[in-house]
Amino acid sequence: MEKVIIIGSGPAGYTAAIYTARAQLEPLVFAGPAMGGQVAISSEVGNYPGFPEDIEGAALAELMKQQAERFGARIEMDIVTEVDLSRRPFRVVTYGDEYETLSLIITSGASPRKLGVPGEAELSGRGVSYCATCDGFFYRGKEIVMVGGGDAAVEEAMFLTRFADKVTVIHRRDQLRAEPLLQERAFRNAKIEFLWDSVVTEIVGDGFVTGLQVRNVKTGEERLFPTQGAFVAIGYVPNTDFLGGQLELNEQGYIVADEDQRTSVEGVWAAGDVCDWTYRQIATSVGAGCKAALQAEHYIAILEDRVYPGQTELE
Ligand code: NAP
Repeated sequence: MEKVIIIGSGPAGYTAAIYTARAQLEPLVFAGPAMGGQVAISSEVGNYPGFPEDIEGAALAELMKQQAERFGARIEMDIVTEVDLSRRPFRVVTYGDEYETLSLIITSGASPRKLGVPGEAELSGRGVSYCATCDGFFYRGKEIVMVGGGDAAVEEAMFLTRFADKVTVIHRRDQLRAEPLLQERAFRNAKIEFLWDSVVTEIVGDGFVTGLQVRNVKTGEERLFPTQGAFVAIGYVPNTDFLGGQLELNEQGYIVADEDQRTSVEGVWAAGDVCDWTYRQIATSVGAGCKAALQAEHYIAILEDRVYPGQTELE
């Protein structure tokens, strides 16, 4: 029987692991499909306090993992496929095994949103990519595109110019959503061009991407835009399939959590991108993971008769 199971290994999960491990709860963390979550595949992180020089996402994730392990967190490379929240203790099923736990902290994050156009699924991994840091290296000397206009698209487009000769950012409006500092840098980058007011309607290729069918949303004109690779960064969808509808979700599928990270089921907390559709920053995920862990700690103390229900965890 576990006291705390943490689902996910991004900044929220690792922070929850650090706090619950320091509280002697010996948390069990299921890392999910990618150890470290989205941060681990971010190129450089420049806005997380404590790192005056940019730090590579993978390095930051590794430091968080080491910190959690130092205090006794057990981090398993396994994926949760199912949970049963209707019984106590909760049941958690992974690819590898089945577990019981008194409490659950869900930090399963979010996955890249797909364009949902013909050719995308077939050419995924064959010129279509959702991860510049993972695949950028393969596009050395090539002319490629980045679809999207947010922080991720602009930051990753700049990262891709380390390899590619030219990166065309295709955005559905005539203004970027990305923060001004990133915009400025991208506009100054001689290898980046912009195709405004344009949406991709099809990804074309013959075993590998050769072009994109692009429509101008203002003129309606449609044309084939030749390219040797298509990166997509158009936001994320929360990873909640394994919940099977047992927690309240909002209409976009994010877990509904209150300001203490409480979900609709007592004993279950959520933190990070799986419940945050607004901020989605490392700093906010760390804060939420911390709150979830402190709440779980208090909840277990009540279950174990170490504090009474009205007493706060700080008393
Ligand atoms: P985002 O801010 O939601 O931006 C998504 C972009 O994709 C928007 O420009 C949006 O267009 C476009 N888009 C959405 N659906 C589309 C579709 N179906 N077809 C074409 N375009 C579509 O997502 P993000 O850039 O992944 O960023 C997510 C969060 O992480 C944000 O809070 C961001 O601040 C944060 N982040 C921060 C950093 C950093 O601080 N350095 C780096 C990466 C991410 P519209 O603009 O027209 O809506």
